[in-house]
Amino acid sequence: MERVSTAADKNPSKNGLFTVKSAYHLLCNRKDIGTRATASSSSDITPSQVLDEVWKKIWSCSSTPRIHNFLWRSCANGVATGEALARRKAQIDPSCFRCGHPSESINHILLDCPFARATWCGSPLSYIPPQAPQLTQLILQWNRFRTTTKKEGRESVGLIGFICWSLWRSKNEAIFKGRIRSPEEVIREANLQASDFQLLFFPSLRRCDLPQAPPIYWSPAPNPTMKLNTDASLNNERGGLGLVLRNYQGRPTKACSIPATFTSSLEGEALALRVGLLHSIAECVDDLVAEMDCKELVNFFSNNPTPPPIPLFNVIADIKHPISSFRSCTVLFIPREINSMADSLARKATSLTCETTMPLSTPWLSSLRNQDTLCWARYTK
Ligand SMILES: [Zn+2]
Repeated sequence: MERVSTAADKNPSKNGLFTVKSAYHLLCNRKDIGTRATASSSSDITPSQVLDEVWKKIWSCSSTPRIHNFLWRSCANGVATGEALARRKAQIDPSCFRCGHPSESINHILLDCPFARATWCGSPLSYIPPQAPQLTQLILQWNRFRTTTKKEGRESVGLIGFICWSLWRSKNEAIFKGRIRSPEEVIREANLQASDFQLLFFPSLRRCDLPQAPPIYWSPAPNPTMKLNTDASLNNERGGLGLVLRNYQGRPTKACSIPATFTSSLEGEALALRVGLLHSIAECVDDLVAEMDCKELVNFFSNNPTPPPIPLFNVIADIKHPISSFRSCTVLFIPREINSMADSLARKATSLTCETTMPLSTPWLSSLRNQDTLCWARYTK
């Protein structure tokens, strides 16, 4: 512990001891904060620019000072992500090592990466982050995780911080120590830390035992049927399609990233399915199950199909023709959390200039394959 002089500050630490809270007030009250923050290696957003409301919520959550500090620095862009380092002209690859997303921001690592999504979905919170999720928004709205009792509410909100911390740690351990952990391990670690914290600071409480929903897994189709997963991604008006074809053992036989032009995610999903079907025909597949995470598109091919909107009429007609050329072909919806290979291939395509067949030994691809097949992504409709 360091003693800090807080006499001149409006929010002095009462006992003169250093705490994250006192440091925050100290920094916020300094007029030269902007200069200092820019000069430091930590951030382009100064701590004083982090909404007061966000800080209050971070500080009031039931967690350790280390996690309060980490959440605060994350909201202030004060952690060394690929995106932050690239902004500082560091000679590094700014893409996400897990999924190939071109820009690894803190929001991507903690919320948007397929690995993070699988972790949140499988956690006791059963949380599904929205499109383009933001950590500050999650923190501002985390009261919605407060459930029936005060105790459960405190545990749920506290668990959010422990999950964020475990996701960050697992990323660093993978990069610096080569230790790859599954979403299940990250959830287990976060749960354990949250429970230990509760027991330490609220000894009258028992270890938290939140109800668990049944897990679901991605699974291959039975031999000889092949499974096709497709997805589309839009990044700054650059479109990308992803497809992966896997056999009955779950082994990919083809994985492609294809840059494409489209104006809506539904159109992109339809184009991805069409190109996936054509690739499957070229691979001499007879029996196929095609999976995607777009319910609206799947409904066009159900037993009671909904009519497609006029701009998509031709694309949907173009899909029905190749579907009829298989001996058997079923089009199914699956949650995004277990469509991560196709999702990542589509994201990768947004930074490519031509169709690319990925070597099946690509490390991030095999890591995602394990994630799809082994992770227990829990999903509640
Ligand atoms: Zn990622």
